[in-house]
Amino acid sequence: MRTVIANWKMNPETVEEAKRIFSGIKRISTNLKRTQVVVAPPTLFAPLFVKAQHKKLVVAAQDTWYEQKGSFTGQISPTMLVDAGVSSTIIGHSERRALGETNELIQKKVIAALKAGLGVTLCIGETTRDADGSYFNGIRTQLASALTGLPRVALAQLVIAYEPVWAIGAIEPMNTHDIHSMMIFIKKTLGDIFTKDVAKTIPIVYGGSVFAENAAEIIEKGGVQGLLVGRESLTNGFLDLLKIVDAVK
Ligand code: PEP
Repeated sequence: MRTVIANWKMNPETVEEAKRIFSGIKRISTNLKRTQVVVAPPTLFAPLFVKAQHKKLVVAAQDTWYEQKGSFTGQISPTMLVDAGVSSTIIGHSERRALGETNELIQKKVIAALKAGLGVTLCIGETTRDADGSYFNGIRTQLASALTGLPRVALAQLVIAYEPVWAIGAIEPMNTHDIHSMMIFIKKTLGDIFTKDVAKTIPIVYGGSVFAENAAEIIEKGGVQGLLVGRESLTNGFLDLLKIVDAVK
């Protein structure tokens, strides 16, 4: 099964527009054969859509907190998300890391979310690429710090989203040769953290300037199990993207 995650970020501005975008995705989702679409609207809008969920259409949050309740003004806990019918959450998106989220905070969130029964899409990725390849160490650290100590049973609920930060909101995605190399590196690192066999079962998706026009090539040549889509997920192009991804053999 492929996974396509729609990260709406802080869009759209109205409930009406959110409902319009979601209804298009819902319509397409019923015909998907090998793709699950995960829609991550602003959390306030998520309860509008949870009843529409089925095997191929899941509603997610864009973030969560690491405590289940208490004095944390502005935060939403994993248990609240579960109780409201939300199925999974993105954690560690680069836009949240840019606000100051550390690997330690992200680890706490991953554990709390999995414990509450949410699926987790853990975002990792380098901000820049240096000639000596030290970004590999950064990615290894992001993975190791977020995942060490996770109970094995929780791993079935985990997706890794590799998003080179410089390719998010850009014109072009990373080239498929480099995406493929990073997939191999991430699998190997997951094998070091868990075991090779466990690593094989954890899906890795790519994010960063994915559009309907480049989605098939990234799936075919990048060796990824899915995509994380920002801007395009708010447009009609996303409906084409879903059909295109689903049609790739
Ligand atoms: C993202 O927000 O994670 C993302 C990949 O955005 P975009 O598709 O717009 O580059």
